[in-house]
Amino acid sequence: MSAPIVIAGAGLAGSLLAAQLALRGERVAVYEKRGDSRREEVAAGRSINLALAERGWEGLRRANAVEAVRRFALPMRGRMIHDRAGAQSLQPYGVRSDEIIYSVHRGHLNQCLLDVAQAAGAELHFDAPLVRVDFDARTATFAHRAVPFAVLIGADGAGSALRAAMNAEAPLADRTEFLDHGYKELRIAPKGDKFAMDPEALHIWPRGGYMLIALPNPDRSFTATLFLANGPGADGANFAAISDVAAARAFFAREFADALALIEDFDTQWSTHPVGLLGTLHCPRWNHGDRALLIGDAAHAIVPFHGQGMNCAFEDCVALIDSIERHRGEVGVDWSTVFGQFDDERRPNTEAIAQMALENYIEMRDSVSDPAYQLRRSLELEIARRTELYRPRYAQVMFSSVPYAIALERGQRQREMLLALTAGKSRLDEIDIDAAVAAANALQ
Ligand SMILES: Cc1cc2nc3c(=O)[nH]c(=O)nc-3n(C[C@H](O)[C@H](O)[C@H](O)COP(=O)(O)OP(=O)(O)OC[C@H]3O[C@@H](n4cnc5c(N)ncnc54)[C@H](O)[C@@H]3O)c2cc1C
Repeated sequence: MSAPIVIAGAGLAGSLLAAQLALRGERVAVYEKRGDSRREEVAAGRSINLALAERGWEGLRRANAVEAVRRFALPMRGRMIHDRAGAQSLQPYGVRSDEIIYSVHRGHLNQCLLDVAQAAGAELHFDAPLVRVDFDARTATFAHRAVPFAVLIGADGAGSALRAAMNAEAPLADRTEFLDHGYKELRIAPKGDKFAMDPEALHIWPRGGYMLIALPNPDRSFTATLFLANGPGADGANFAAISDVAAARAFFAREFADALALIEDFDTQWSTHPVGLLGTLHCPRWNHGDRALLIGDAAHAIVPFHGQGMNCAFEDCVALIDSIERHRGEVGVDWSTVFGQFDDERRPNTEAIAQMALENYIEMRDSVSDPAYQLRRSLELEIARRTELYRPRYAQVMFSSVPYAIALERGQRQREMLLALTAGKSRLDEIDIDAAVAAANALQ
């Protein structure tokens, strides 16, 4: 029997790709470093919950997993902005009824995708870290077991062992640009049997140089995440300066008092939850000839501020499957072309989302509370309400499959137009909306 397609990593991208491949009749075997989270308590690692958007749903559609995921996906219709006094205001994500994003629990999603992959016929192996690859012999060693592969796909995350093995054979010149900000997660427990805040929103406490956000969970808790400079920043607040729990409490009491009131065991959580690192991985080559390919975070990890890392990884799976279908011949799949094409098509787009993710940090922590930004945002939503031809950049990224590189390019032109239309204005009713719609239509 010929060797299977072997996937290193049964995280989000690895398990989804396994399901998609198995459903198309491929022999696929997945090897995961950690235990089986469906049977034992496995540390989720980081980010308890994630924002799922259209690109992610498309990946799930291709694995017939939409209904299963809908059962635990919580809709979020907009950003709920909290000011220092605790006042809240909702900024909707879009103008159409389906322009909403979903909060999904990382653990539940991963377990669901493992079930889907297994039911589709994928072989799953746990406690099996990739430790060595012999590319010439097409064998990979997981823990102590050498397994043959037709091709080896690395879905083993930002610290990819496959990337390290490829690097050892032929340098990739990859580099990770770490952000000088990190994050800490804190749980907001339910209030009795209810959510402590509106569950249909992504909550943001924008404070200029840093921010707190919170996404709802199916158990009616929220996971709040503080994003803050690691060391001294422009405005002085940073993780290093918060020397102990009392200082953390004082910082929260000043900046996020309404959130602090909802975090019952703040002192314990603050002192036991780690500060996570954030960065952007630039890896100039994702393939090793026709033998191996990196996908998801292993290829292009990004900062989380557009909520697109997983969505982009799921889009990788769709792009790869489509390319395999296009290049399947009588003697099998032309892997060399598939991998080359994957690189050509995906790279401009992953670079674009990496840039937009960094830009969105400024938008979330700062711009959302800036009146000039709010005016531009109200204007573009008003334009989008009046003409289907105009889709704000945010909607293109979150609610469509428009290639990221096109969304970035269109977004730059949209921004210039909005800046021109709102120059010297402070209210929407001072702007000639018909002229704005005409300008927007002319942009497309
Ligand atoms: C704070 C934070 C918030 C985020 N929020 C969002 C969001 O809202 N929306 C969104 O779309 N994305 C978000 N992301 C990004 C998202 O988490 C990642 O993009 C996504 O998890 C990538 O999936 P992956 O399968 O490529 O990698 P991972 O999810 O990291 O999975 C890799 C898997 O490989 C396994 N593995 C590692 N090494 C080996 C080895 N040697 N051998 C075998 N297996 C191995 C790991 O155990 C793991 O199961 C966020 C990230 C962070 C840090």
